[in-house]
Amino acid sequence: MTYDFSSMFSLYDTLNNVMYDYEEDGNENALQQFFHAATAVSPRSQPIGCFDVCEESDAVLEFVRRFYATTPCSGIDDCTDALYLQLEEKIGFSEAEQIDIPTIQRVLEAMDELFSFSRMIHPISISIIDAEMYGRNGESIAVFGNHCSGAIFLYRLWNNFEGKATPASVLLHELGHQLHFCLTGELYKVPESFYGHLENLGADYSDLSNEDLLEVFADTFLLAVIHKTKEFGDPYPEIRDTIKAHCYNYIADQFNGLHFAQI
Ligand SMILES: [Zn+2]
Repeated sequence: MTYDFSSMFSLYDTLNNVMYDYEEDGNENALQQFFHAATAVSPRSQPIGCFDVCEESDAVLEFVRRFYATTPCSGIDDCTDALYLQLEEKIGFSEAEQIDIPTIQRVLEAMDELFSFSRMIHPISISIIDAEMYGRNGESIAVFGNHCSGAIFLYRLWNNFEGKATPASVLLHELGHQLHFCLTGELYKVPESFYGHLENLGADYSDLSNEDLLEVFADTFLLAVIHKTKEFGDPYPEIRDTIKAHCYNYIADQFNGLHFAQI
């Protein structure tokens, strides 16, 4: 069987054939064979500071590789099935805006100026996926071992929030997730200090789920950047600049903490 990883759509077609091979033709090893083919080669990437950027088929391979590494499943067969279902339900053709390499470079330069980001945060792979993913503009994950290895996937904009979100602001939100991974060493936890930050703002977070809190943390990073530069757009023009300034001070404190932890 030939496996085609040139785009998310050819990956979906490939998985369709794999499932047919497994279910209709009775090839019990079909899902395992797909897994080995998809993970046999390492994706190529372009280094940009602390980022490794993957495009086209390399971005697709990185997506598959990280899916197997981070999706809680009972085995390779289950995980392959989950991957197939996710693609079936969520990917779509789109001509909406997409991030490009110069924008990623500029975002990193600005982050380095503001927070010495490259020195503080572990290497992060950024994959530019040429497809829409229903329900999200981007996503972040990380694998924790001896060190934390983060991955960001940036899709074509599924929702630009009435023109207020930009590909760069989506990347900044995802970098906010990478910061809480780095601070807590866990995927689904905000730092204890974040509760104090919300209380200082007078925000009532009692009704927020843990998932909501992670999103608010990522947006707090975005608001901190917006306080210093409007270059990447402002998805939250309704939020007062005094609040954005508090967010900047909180995020700058987190980077200072990381700096001292590294000395
Ligand atoms: Zn998020």
